[in-house]
Amino acid sequence: MTTQYDAVIVGAGFGGMGAAIQLNRLGYDNLLILDRESDLGGTWHVNRYPGLAVDIPSATYSYSFEPNPYWSRLFAPGDELKRYAAHVAQKYDIRRFMRFNTAVTGAVWDAEHEHWTVSVRGSTPVTAKYLFAATGFLSQPKKPDIDGIDTFAGKVIHTTDWDDGYDLTGKRAAVIGTGATGVQLIPEVAKVVRELTVYQRTPIWVSPKLDFSVPKAVQRAFAAVPLIQRVARFAGSALLEMLMVTGVLHYRQLPLANKLGERLCRAYLARQVRDRQLRRKLTPNYTFGCKRPTFSNDYFPTFTKDHVHLETAPIARVDETGIVTVAGDRRDIDVLLLATGFDLWETNFPAIETIGREGRNLGKWWRENRFQAYEGVAVPKFPNYISLNSPYSYSGLSYFTTIESQMRHIDRLFTVMRRRGADTFEVTERANDAFLARMTERVGDTVFELGQCATANSYYFNPHGEATLLRPSSTVNAFREARRFPVDDYAFGSPVGR
Ligand code: NAP
Repeated sequence: MTTQYDAVIVGAGFGGMGAAIQLNRLGYDNLLILDRESDLGGTWHVNRYPGLAVDIPSATYSYSFEPNPYWSRLFAPGDELKRYAAHVAQKYDIRRFMRFNTAVTGAVWDAEHEHWTVSVRGSTPVTAKYLFAATGFLSQPKKPDIDGIDTFAGKVIHTTDWDDGYDLTGKRAAVIGTGATGVQLIPEVAKVVRELTVYQRTPIWVSPKLDFSVPKAVQRAFAAVPLIQRVARFAGSALLEMLMVTGVLHYRQLPLANKLGERLCRAYLARQVRDRQLRRKLTPNYTFGCKRPTFSNDYFPTFTKDHVHLETAPIARVDETGIVTVAGDRRDIDVLLLATGFDLWETNFPAIETIGREGRNLGKWWRENRFQAYEGVAVPKFPNYISLNSPYSYSGLSYFTTIESQMRHIDRLFTVMRRRGADTFEVTERANDAFLARMTERVGDTVFELGQCATANSYYFNPHGEATLLRPSSTVNAFREARRFPVDDYAFGSPVGR
């Protein structure tokens, strides 16, 4: 039985595209990228809600090897990200590998033929020597399990499935959810609706967003002298690392960093909202960093508008015409906007059923043991498998830090494998155990262990209560290890030895 592809990559977002570019650089040209959506871009294809923008400076939130001098703002709007994704695919000639509207339903390691058999809904399975899961972290929308929600007779829109044809003007709207998406969406919705009620379960730490449009002259300078933009990227990344990563990961040594973050957000809230009771409702009761904080200049002031109401009593039920809280207050609405985020742990680890050597089921194994992956990419008994969205894989605040450190890991792994005349790899149990022990120890220093995180409802924590999403190390460490991990952490198998 011949193997059809060198590699199958599941997901045509920035992670999957990074993997394809890296494999192409290594000389693999027989690739297949499968995506259930109708086009590339992952989260930036799916999300189109009003107010969508990056919340990491754009020079940092992009591939370092493909800077875009033409970002219109420091924090670019969502549609520019989608265009950037299309540009990268075109320039690196990887669109030809992509097949859209193709949902992958599972993957099984075929030990006899030493390849992966990947099942595709409504089509025949495909086989590949290597399998890359690039299914994202925030890709399975969470529909809230609220009593009666299906009986609502008005319009319901989840932020990942925005209905561009629906006009919110003059409507009575409700938003459920005050995460990073809600923070972007709520001010925009408030501008056009007649009445807006925001249902908040957990408040979010919000700091000022130093956003501005990038003058054309600066864009031209970035284009003419890319070094200038590289310096801007470096400065932005270093600042984010200092502000958002160091304090979180080194909470034991530097609790002051988080305290400062909290102080800044509190002072900002106090300046924007005079009403004490409203301020109290908008103030989180968990330590800064337990959950991803966000930036906005118009989120808090939105709640001071007469037609905007902040509801903090839990929702009891939704009925045909509106929402009723446990306190018995009801509000009739025309449209229900769900900014309720994503299922991570339940449906995304892994996003497809993945069966490795000796029948090991990845999802079951993670649940029955602990969520773990060597260097955030490899798992014992899963040969020739790289999982880009694994426990401990998210490094730094910009997702591109994760992607590019993983590209380096792939580069080293495949280079060594081929130098040894091998074509299979599998991380050893010993290396995986040592990595897990090291990460577990490091998490002990973080805000997740030492801060007040119990009330944060943070998706950084897995169902076992462990903070296993973020890699508890600096981004410099992640890059260093990607370049220098001991190659004997992997066992290689060569065709000649078989
Ligand atoms: P999220 O952070 O998970 O927030 C979901 C919100 O919905 C939370 O406030 C949650 O409350 C609430 N919620 C969920 N189920 C509920 C229920 N049954 N009843 C009441 N409230 C409920 O999701 P998100 O805002 O979509 O953001 C997810 C991540 O996406 C962000 O952390 C960020 O990393 C990324 N993001 C990035 C950008 C950007 O870069 N531009 C923009 C948006 C999002 P609890 O907190 O109590 O669970």
